[in-house]
Amino acid sequence: MNKPFWQQDLDQLTDQEWEALCDGCGRCCLQKLQDEDSEEVVFTSIACEFLDTTSCRCKVYPQRAEHKTNCFVIDRHNKAHFSWLPKTCAYRLRHEGKPLYDWHPLLAGNTQEIQAAGISVGQWCRSEHEVPEAQWVEYIVDEQDGF
Ligand code: SF4
Ligand code: SF4
Repeated sequence: MNKPFWQQDLDQLTDQEWEALCDGCGRCCLQKLQDEDSEEVVFTSIACEFLDTTSCRCKVYPQRAEHKTNCFVIDRHNKAHFSWLPKTCAYRLRHEGKPLYDWHPLLAGNTQEIQAAGISVGQWCRSEHEVPEAQWVEYIVDEQDGF
């Protein structure tokens, strides 16, 4: 019996399956800060201005690279950079040969479990319009939360 598509190699996925693999958490759309000395990158709970925090979906998805120059467009051609993604990201997990979490909508069969697990950012993020960039350092999120 064939494996479900989310257990297959990323390169074997159709475009439709690739898009369906996204859990819709919105974590990749959080602003990041980089330490000038160590070059360490950390996530904040400040969301990109184009993230719809209710649906956790990008409001400009087809044209995201034009609207946001630092948007990391996740596709098959930049897998080498997936280590920048949150540790819970389905693309990073599958790229690293790891299984999806049980709360992933493809396994759970609903979108409630990902919210109950606190993975969706819509419940706790702030828009970048609400917080001046100089204060983002106060919003760094913890590695224990899967970043
Ligand atoms: S972090 Fe990964 S799974 Fe979550 S919204 Fe971004 S691309 Fe999708
Ligand atoms: S432009 Fe869209 S996909 Fe890119 S970071 Fe912003 S909300 Fe996310």
